[in-house]
Amino acid sequence: MKKIGHFISGKEEFENSNTIDLYNPNNAEIIGKVSLASPKIIDKAILSSVSALNEWKLFSISKRSSILFEYKVLLEKNINRIADIIGEDLGKVKDDAIGEIRRGIENVEYACGIGEILKGEYNKNISTSVDSWSEFEPLGVVLGVTPFNFPTMVPLWMFPLALAAGNSFILKPSEKDPLSTMFIAKLFNETGAPKGLLNIINGNKETVEKLIEDKRIRAVSFVGSTPVAKKIYENSGKYGKRCQALGGAKNHALVLSDANLEYTTNQLISAAFGSSGQRCMALSVAMVQRNIKDKFIEILKKKTNTLRVGFNIKDSNSFGPLVTLEHMEKVRDFIDMAESEGCEIIVDGRNINKGKNSNNGYYLGATIINNVKTNMTSYQNEIFGPVLQIIEVENMENAIEIINENRFGNGCCIFTSNGEYARKFSNNINIGMVGINIPLPVPSSFHSFGGWKESLFGDLNIYGPDGLRFYTQRKTITQRWPESKLSESNLDLSMPDNLN
Ligand code: NAD
Repeated sequence: MKKIGHFISGKEEFENSNTIDLYNPNNAEIIGKVSLASPKIIDKAILSSVSALNEWKLFSISKRSSILFEYKVLLEKNINRIADIIGEDLGKVKDDAIGEIRRGIENVEYACGIGEILKGEYNKNISTSVDSWSEFEPLGVVLGVTPFNFPTMVPLWMFPLALAAGNSFILKPSEKDPLSTMFIAKLFNETGAPKGLLNIINGNKETVEKLIEDKRIRAVSFVGSTPVAKKIYENSGKYGKRCQALGGAKNHALVLSDANLEYTTNQLISAAFGSSGQRCMALSVAMVQRNIKDKFIEILKKKTNTLRVGFNIKDSNSFGPLVTLEHMEKVRDFIDMAESEGCEIIVDGRNINKGKNSNNGYYLGATIINNVKTNMTSYQNEIFGPVLQIIEVENMENAIEIINENRFGNGCCIFTSNGEYARKFSNNINIGMVGINIPLPVPSSFHSFGGWKESLFGDLNIYGPDGLRFYTQRKTITQRWPESKLSESNLDLSMPDNLN
């Protein structure tokens, strides 16, 4: 049985510690044993990260940038292999996995421009003969903790930029699917970067707690569910470290009566069921204006019924399994709950016909739940599966009120052909990322990603310009080289102003 160790100082490390089983969700076969790091291995990784920092400091910005370029090429070259690995322990269908990797590579490209984006701020002669500037220095060793659903993209949101900014990085991937994360870390090791600049520690919540406690770790980037994000944010604060903790979501789409229903239903189906709905930006609620609801549902149902679910390696499948048996059961329980709360299940994925080889996999078909009310428990929680809930609304104001009251604030979107409505919607909505006729408004790497309310704890979003600020600390230098007449000036103890 393949044992998945840790990746420290450029090589895989194994130890005699506890392990947990790793499953292929396509057929429920055990494909490996994931090591849970002991305190000894955690210490070894941190020591390695601290020592790599000293070496990394000597690399010029151009040299760092060229290493990231090298990494981008390696990721591109291996994209098919990486997508296959994502399929093996997460079950994503190939095109979807390739899309994830490409969105990850965008962030490597952004980090390649570190010479441009890390430029400081400068003011000449801020006071007479006084110049002042700010530099952005690295923090030191940074920790990243990532969720199961984007095992390459989310790590790539973090470490390329953190490293480009001069830090070293320890990553704790999800224990549910660490294989592709390990693979991309090994690829990074093939660049000319110092060994130990990027270390991977496998483990569970105890591992994360140990890492956060350690004084040598300066900051924590976390992405995962809301209860854990909140806890990590609080714990990081307790130990005095900087933290950005991105949490769960409940993303709403508003479909106005003037929307193009063919276009809108295609977009909604893709965003609700792609990746089996296991995306933090997945659309999980469609709010539809009463006067078009019947027509909308008719088209939506017809198209949803053409989706195929099964083994991820089969190209004709629209999406694969859920990540674990436990997760699949949780999603199925939510559908049962919605039914018992009085909803109508208009497309039922609980008893799908699975394709060949898929018999024991963790599959759920696309599910559409109608007549959802906002006081239902099945509405108030994140389901994180191939489930779309439909709420009927009277008008846009009514929809904005519902979305703003929801405790999550990651993404939302509006489908309309009226620019005035779209503008009003985006101006009045309390959500971090808004799409206008775009179902998954995931910002490109040149912007930053982050939700509001319980979808993000912390002040700075992840990747892009905010990411760079997160991974650096400002140092402001003020200098004067006194001219001879100033050297002879009078002794003066008053607070110096800048007006002289
Ligand atoms: P999770 O919160 O269960 O786990 C995320 C990571 O935290 C894993 O590495 C896990 O080992 C670790 N962890 C779990 N419990 C912990 C604890 N008590 N203390 C410390 N560490 C702990 O999330 P998941 O199930 O892997 O991922 C799905 C969730 O992630 C969904 O809620 C989804 O919305 C969210 N997500 C959010 C974003 C975003 O950008 N906002 C992106 C992707 C996923």
